Amino acid sequence: MLIPRSHPRAASLHIREKLVSGYRKGLVVEEGLLAHGRGEMFDYLVGEKTLKTSHAAIKAAAHMLLSAKHPVISVNGNMAALCAREIVRLAQVTGAEIEVNLFYASKKRKKAIANFLKKNGARKVLGFDAKFSQKIPRLDSARRVVDERGMFIADVVLVPLEDGDRTIALKKFGKKVITFDLNPMSRTAQTADITIVDNVTRGMELLVETCKKMKKSSLEKNFKFDNKKNLNQSILTIKNNLGRLSHA
Ligand code: ATP
Ligand code: MG
Repeated sequence: MLIPRSHPRAASLHIREKLVSGYRKGLVVEEGLLAHGRGEMFDYLVGEKTLKTSHAAIKAAAHMLLSAKHPVISVNGNMAALCAREIVRLAQVTGAEIEVNLFYASKKRKKAIANFLKKNGARKVLGFDAKFSQKIPRLDSARRVVDERGMFIADVVLVPLEDGDRTIALKKFGKKVITFDLNPMSRTAQTADITIVDNVTRGMELLVETCKKMKKSSLEKNFKFDNKKNLNQSILTIKNNLGRLSHA
C-alpha cells in the first residue's frame, strides 16, 4: 500500500508496513505484532518524536557500548524487521557481536532472521548453532539459551523490545543492560541500566550516529547517567502531554 507523505500518521504507518512485511517473510510472529501495538500507543503519548531524555539516554548508551570489552546486540523478530541496517551499522561502529534471541523460538525463524541480517550486511550472526549453546540461570526454556561466544561472555548487552523476565535474568547474570522501550513503566524499562524511551526506528539511527561521533579513544572518564531520574522525567513528559490533551 502507498501511503502519502502528507498523511498525518505517515511515519507510524510506514513502520507498521515494515513490521507486516517482516511477518510475511517469517521474521515476526503474531505476538510480535501485538507487542508493536503496545509500542505504538506509547509512541503516540511521547508525540512520535525523540524526547530530550531519550537523547540523553542515547548518549549514555553510546558511551557504555564504546567502553565495553565484549558488547552484544540481542536481536528478535521485530527488531530485525524494523532495523536490520542499523543493527549492522551499530555492530560495525562499536565492534559488538550480533546474536539472535527469541521469546517464541524456532530454528526456522532464527535462520530466517540471521539470513535477513546477512542480506543487510551482517558478516557474522550468533545464536543459532547448538554447538555453542549455553544457558543463563533463572529463566524458562528457550529464552535462556545464549551463545557462548556472545551473550554468555558479554559485559554489555543491548536488548531492545525485550520482555521483563529476560531483562531481569540478564541483570542477575551480571550483565549491563541497555534497552529501547517506548513504555518507561515496563519491567524492562525499570530494570535496565540505560533505557532509551524511543521508537527503535528513530533511536537506532541516532545511536549509530552518536557512536560514530563519540570516538573510542576520547571517552569521558567519569561519565555519569541516572537512569531512574531520566525515566521519571520521561513519565512526567507523558503525563504533561496527556494533561495538555485533556485541557484542549
Ligand atoms: P515488560 O515485560 O518489560 O514488563 P511488557 O510485557 O509490557 O513489558 P513486552 O511485550 O514484554 O511488553 O515488551 C515489548 C516492549 O516493547 C513494550 O514495552 C512495548 O511498548 C515496546 N515496543 C514495541 N514496539 C516498539 C518500538 N517500535 N520501539 C520501541 N519500543 C517498542
Ligand atoms: Mg513482557
